[in-house]
Amino acid sequence: MASSLRQNRGNQLLGLNFQELSLLVQSHKQPDYRARQLFEAIYTQRQADLESISTLPRNFRAILRDQGVEIGAPTIEKSFPSVDGTIRYLIAMTDGETVETVWMPEGDGGEEADGSEAGDETTEKGFDRATICVSSQIGCAVNCQFCLTAQLGVKRNLTAGEIIGQVIAVLNDRRVDMERHRIIIVFMGMGEPFLNYPEFMKAVRLLVEGVGFSESRMTVSTSGIVPRIYDFGSEPVRPKLAISLNAPNDQLRERIMPLNRKWNLEVLMQAARDFPLRNRERITFEYVLLRDVNDRLEHARQVVELLRGIRCKVNLIALNPGPGIAFATPDQERVHAFQQVLMAGGIPAFIRRPRGLDIYAACGQLKRTVA
Ligand code: SF4
Repeated sequence: MASSLRQNRGNQLLGLNFQELSLLVQSHKQPDYRARQLFEAIYTQRQADLESISTLPRNFRAILRDQGVEIGAPTIEKSFPSVDGTIRYLIAMTDGETVETVWMPEGDGGEEADGSEAGDETTEKGFDRATICVSSQIGCAVNCQFCLTAQLGVKRNLTAGEIIGQVIAVLNDRRVDMERHRIIIVFMGMGEPFLNYPEFMKAVRLLVEGVGFSESRMTVSTSGIVPRIYDFGSEPVRPKLAISLNAPNDQLRERIMPLNRKWNLEVLMQAARDFPLRNRERITFEYVLLRDVNDRLEHARQVVELLRGIRCKVNLIALNPGPGIAFATPDQERVHAFQQVLMAGGIPAFIRRPRGLDIYAACGQLKRTVA
């Protein structure tokens, strides 16, 4: 138990699973059902401090408090609302490090036709449907050349508690009712989730078992960490898989994503072909279009060949420009022409709406901590 608490940054409960909470409860000679009370208070009721857990006896709360035990929820330091309803949150961890988490009412179209059913329902007023984009690391080591986060390098991994804590902070801020609202989670914020695999997967399990998300309403995006794609495929509970493709051949992909030197397209595509898909599920391939670099029609035709035989769809994203990024945005006609080639080749292709451009919340723009 002590080691679980230590991993969890001090004496923090957020991020502990039911078994770990059971050990904590037993170590205090409390009845076993206290573990269930703690688990539900932290994850289902999303309580932010021990004092508000009224199901726990006062003296047990006092003992925990005296030992310095706390829930350890990250806090919203700032929020930047966009004219389109998107909100970019700057969320502070208990050690003062910050990450960014994005709320997108009605999503960005990226969830269409991937088997999540998330795009099927009609949206009524407000945010009956919304997407939360979650970070998995502080910074990122992968160094994709079109991404602002890459400029930071990686500072550290987030714990499971810090990953799930972003979701809880946003759900509470937006007053989300899990019974009523349809919320999708995408692990597409700062960082490469598969380079923080154990903590990322622990957060996923807690989101499903504790907070009440269904695995089919979560998607994780990887830049192509091939061994972890195989591990991920064998998980009993897992989100859907998205692969950040961005180029149709090794030469181009190495230029845009240096990671391709380690796992080239041949091994990446083999991992995609080997990936065990569920009923109705498709792999999403993300493709950031960079003007005159990877956006030619011949590239689109190469993508069709590359993905042939894989049950998949492609999300096209016109580059969101940013300072220090040496690429330009293709014009709309080019983006549509690229989409048409994919569709004609039998590959469902969707153009993602850029969200929160005015607040630097769009794809690849996170870690502009000053608006
Ligand atoms: S696109 Fe994703 S994997 Fe690539 S550098 Fe940015 S955050 Fe990291």
